[in-house]
Amino acid sequence: MPAIAYLECSRCHHRISAETPQTLCPIDAGSLYVRYDMDAVRETAKRERPAELAAKSHASLGMWRYADVLPAVTPVTLGEGWTPMLRSRRYDGLFVKEEGANPTGTFKARGLGLAVTMAKHYGLRHLAVPSAGNAAGALAAYAAAAQIAAHIFMPQDVPFANYLEGVVYGADVTMVDGLISDCARMVGEQIKEQRESGVAAEDVWFDISTLKEPFRVEGKKTMGYELVEQLGWEYPDAVFYPTGGGVGLIGMWKAFEEMEQLGWVKGKRPRMYALQAAGCAPVTTAFDAGKDASEFFQNAETFAAGLRVPKPYGDYIILEILKASGGRAVSSDDAAILTSILDWAKEEGIFLSPEGAAATAAYDSLLASGEIKRGERVVLFNTGAGLKYTDMTAEAMHLKRPGTLPTSLPVGGVITPV
Ligand SMILES: [Zn+2]
Repeated sequence: MPAIAYLECSRCHHRISAETPQTLCPIDAGSLYVRYDMDAVRETAKRERPAELAAKSHASLGMWRYADVLPAVTPVTLGEGWTPMLRSRRYDGLFVKEEGANPTGTFKARGLGLAVTMAKHYGLRHLAVPSAGNAAGALAAYAAAAQIAAHIFMPQDVPFANYLEGVVYGADVTMVDGLISDCARMVGEQIKEQRESGVAAEDVWFDISTLKEPFRVEGKKTMGYELVEQLGWEYPDAVFYPTGGGVGLIGMWKAFEEMEQLGWVKGKRPRMYALQAAGCAPVTTAFDAGKDASEFFQNAETFAAGLRVPKPYGDYIILEILKASGGRAVSSDDAAILTSILDWAKEEGIFLSPEGAAATAAYDSLLASGEIKRGERVVLFNTGAGLKYTDMTAEAMHLKRPGTLPTSLPVGGVITPV
C-alpha cells in the first residue's frame, strides 16, 4: 500500500501534508483530494493485477482489494465494497451496481469506512456528521467498530431505520426539525463553541461532512475501480448515479483518472449522469442553466431522503464532471420514482431505494427519448437497499399494515383502504 504523498485542493491545487487530520483547503475552502506517488504504484501494478495484490495483503476483502491505491493504514472494515454487478433481465446493456449489499445497507459504508479508518489512524476521538440519514447510520457503525464517539445530526423525518441505527450503534443522535443544511450549521456551531470554550483539542469534534474532509471521496472512489474491473477492465458507455452530495460521482471520476495513469483501463470515459428528485434538484437546475455552481434549492421535499441535499458542497466539481464527460443531470418526480420502485421489484426482483429508483426512472425516460440507446452499456447505481426505507416507501404507497387503523383517524372515521 502506498503512503499518501500529499493532499491537493480541488480548486487551487495547493498542496497540504496528510501527516495531521485536514478538513478543507486553508486558502479557498476547496475540497481536498488524496494523492499518491503514482509512479511507485505503477511499478508494483505492472507485475500484478489488483486482485492478486490484494490477496496477499492483510485485508483482501471488499473495497480493500484496491489497497494499492488506498492509504497505507490498518483498515477498520465491516466487509464493505465488492458489491454485485447485476445484469438487467429486461434491458440489454444495463447493469445495476447493487450497493445495498454493503454493511449498513448503503454505499455510505465505503466513504465512512475509509474516513473512520483514517480517524482511528490519526487518533481522533470524536466524529460529527450532518446527514440525510444513511451517512449517519454508516458513521455510527464504523465509529462503534473503531470505538470512537459519533455525534450525528439528521432531519427528524429521515427513514426510521437511520434513527434506529444511530441508537443501536450507540451514537449520540440529535434529530433536527429541518434539512441536512440545518444539521450542518448545527455541527459547525457546536465545534465553534467547543473551541471557544476551551475544550481540550483532542475532545473537539472532527467534522466528517461530505467533501469537508478528503477520505470519504477516497473510499467512494472504489466504486469506479470495481465497476471497471467487473466489466472486464473496460469502461461502460454511461454511469447513472443518484446525486445528493455527489461524493461517489467525484470519487469515481478520480478513480478513472488514476486507473488511466496506471494503465489499468483505456478508451473513452463514460458519460456521467447525476440523477436527482424533482423536489430537490439543485444540480439539475444549475446544469440546465449552464452555471458552474448550484444555488440553494428552496423547500426541498421528496421521499428519496438521500437526495434532499439543497446545496451540495462539491457542486462545482460535480458540474464540471458532468460537462467534461458529456453527460448531464436529470430529475424525476416522486410519482415516477415510486412507479420505478414497483416496476423493478415486480419485474426484476430488485427492491430499489428511492434514490436508486430516481436513476431507473431517468433511464426509462432517456431510453424513450433516444438519448440512451438500447444495448449501450450503462452502469446504474442502486445506492441503498430498499429495505432501509420501508416506512417512507409504504407511506408513498399509502400502504398500511392490514388490520390496523391509522392512529390519526378520528373515532368512527371512514374505514376504507386507501
Ligand atoms: Zn485551494
